[in-house]
Amino acid sequence: MKIRQIMLSITALIASAGLANAEVVQNLEEFNAAVKNLRAGDELVMANGIWRDVELAFQGTGTPQQPITLRAQEAGKVIVSGQSNLSISGSYLIVSGLVFKDGYTPTSEVISFRTSKSALANHTRVTNTVIDDFSNPERFSSDTWVAIYGKNNRFDHNSLINKGNSGVTLAVKMNNEASQENGHIIEYNYFGPRQTLGSNGGESLRVGTSHYSRKYSNSIVRYNYFDRTSGELEIISSKSCGNSFNGNVFFESQGTLTMRHGHYTTVENNYFLGNRKPNTGGIRIINEHQTVRNNYLYGLTGYRFRSALVIMNGVPNSPQNRYDPVVDSVMNNNIVIDSDHVQLCAGSDEERSATPTGSSMHNNIFMSRTNLEPFTIYDDVSGISFKGNLINKGAQAPIANGFKSVPYRVSKNKHGLKAPKAALTKAIGFDEVKLPVTKAEVGAEFYPKREPYAAFQSGKTMRVKPGTNTILDALKNSNPGDILLLTNKGEYGLTKLANIRHPITIKSKRGAKPVIRSEKANFFVIENGGALELDNIWIDGADSPDLAGNSVISTSRYSMNKNYTLSVRNSKVTNLDVNHSFHFLKVYMSTFADQIDISNTEMSNITGSILSLNKETDDLGIYNAENIRLQGNTFTDIQGAVADIYRGGTDESTFGPIVVVADNKFIRTGQGRRNKAGASLKFHGVQNLNISNSHWEDSAPLELFLTNGEPTTVIDNIVMKDSGKIVSNSDEYSSSNVSYE
Ligand code: CA
Repeated sequence: MKIRQIMLSITALIASAGLANAEVVQNLEEFNAAVKNLRAGDELVMANGIWRDVELAFQGTGTPQQPITLRAQEAGKVIVSGQSNLSISGSYLIVSGLVFKDGYTPTSEVISFRTSKSALANHTRVTNTVIDDFSNPERFSSDTWVAIYGKNNRFDHNSLINKGNSGVTLAVKMNNEASQENGHIIEYNYFGPRQTLGSNGGESLRVGTSHYSRKYSNSIVRYNYFDRTSGELEIISSKSCGNSFNGNVFFESQGTLTMRHGHYTTVENNYFLGNRKPNTGGIRIINEHQTVRNNYLYGLTGYRFRSALVIMNGVPNSPQNRYDPVVDSVMNNNIVIDSDHVQLCAGSDEERSATPTGSSMHNNIFMSRTNLEPFTIYDDVSGISFKGNLINKGAQAPIANGFKSVPYRVSKNKHGLKAPKAALTKAIGFDEVKLPVTKAEVGAEFYPKREPYAAFQSGKTMRVKPGTNTILDALKNSNPGDILLLTNKGEYGLTKLANIRHPITIKSKRGAKPVIRSEKANFFVIENGGALELDNIWIDGADSPDLAGNSVISTSRYSMNKNYTLSVRNSKVTNLDVNHSFHFLKVYMSTFADQIDISNTEMSNITGSILSLNKETDDLGIYNAENIRLQGNTFTDIQGAVADIYRGGTDESTFGPIVVVADNKFIRTGQGRRNKAGASLKFHGVQNLNISNSHWEDSAPLELFLTNGEPTTVIDNIVMKDSGKIVSNSDEYSSSNVSYE
């Protein structure tokens, strides 16, 4: 026998002698029985299929040479669904090939690196595994998808996609010594799209908590791809010492990598590709001995705490959960291109009065023509040394020394990234502008990186004839993104609710608008996962029931863990007046719109309100919609408020609401005795408000309540005729060309 054949025979002998086992289990009972007998080197194989309502506890003790593996029979063909989760404890364990979808965890974690408070996983690897929209249907019922306890664990090549409910996507837990100084490695994962939560609690990754933040975690987070992870201000919240974030890519993600607590953390060679999308941010330094170097930041528009680069002020002798001052930290050798804001001593106020000390900002390149005054300095920067920075001509350096003007020269390099000339990047010690990892290189290899939602008008067009419930029949046969095309002259009746369960467009071609009437208290109900676009449609209330509190469009009355969009264009809404409080849009608690857009539309004779987005009244920093735009509309005889938008509380983790009101006419609006807002438009806690080129006549006043952070409020070129003065709690807004007649 040749040597190779002998070796093969020996391997076969060892296998048959039962030294290692590969057992295929079909259900939870078999799984549990097999787990009891696992020995080093064994493989526990879950049979292909759907495993519904299973709480899997995988425990065992492997060795470095002979780990114990739990895997799918075929990677991607074991679907864990329903009320399910996986907990792991022991050492030298490997999990791979599972998919969690169509359900949510009954506990507070989906994959947990512990099976009880004292039984933790060490030297354990979870790889090639997926959690896809395994979201609790209760939006604010919080859970963590992956909780890493213990030490020396590795989480790699996994896909975590589309978390809809509150709670961190992946958390490193440090709640006792057995989980500190853990040295976990989190790498090559795909953090897929995470929608705006509209509250704190939407972090994609958190390492530690404020309570243990002065302990070392020593976690390494590298080569992960964050694809539109826009849950909240903190994409990553580092809340412990000694972490390293290296070579990660942040693609069009709203928020920042924040060193919220803890010291001695390094942020190096990360790429932030904002592509000029709103609220895209970079890196925020808080605390001591933080190192931020050789990062690339492109097209970031974020302002304040989500600016491209931020160095915060701290609280003197800060309590653990507030802000430690910045001490001996560096922000060097970074490239910032076409980004709008860099903020120093950010957050300076009576409490955050400790300025940075012993810190440096050296050899950075700032090349941006999008904002020629990119730096904002809120306090004394004498504790930051500035040297060798390059800034493009025309842009204003923050201080006289330490910045050299160079021409703005940026071009796409061979890797498709906007970069300054190589001579400049070399001069600051930045090797090559090139992504450290691509989207294709991360995540579970078998799992596609699909778009989570269909765009409007991305599907097929269905012609819908006039008549009773023809729209409902078409909806029943529709798929996400489809268009219901109505004829220009018809009448469309509804005797039942039109439930919108996926993105749908209802429109007609330019010309006469087809009319829709309904015999139900609501015309359209946007259910979880739904989104609605109306274009060139006439909505009339003449057939609506004689009830108080009707509405044209309503959200689900239950919690929605998927954000929706509502767009109304070139349309007409009339005679919502059969009884009192007939609203255009009625929303419920625990629902959230990414975008509500009403444009070129006439609305008249309405006893209720148009956009009443004021249902989150607990002042927890939760609100009902992110972006609201009213443009080119005429509102006539509206008894309620045209817009009543409420965002209460003092939490600073979110961006919105963001409101644009432009080119509108408000005639006899907001004066009904049931209008609790007492205003034609009322904005409370709106973070970014722009009102321009609009005209009020015989209307209730415009009312502002500026609160939370630094809201930006601009009012320009408006006329208020017989409509009272603007009512505001503060004069901290800019107004020009406001005339009262
Ligand atoms: Ca947060």
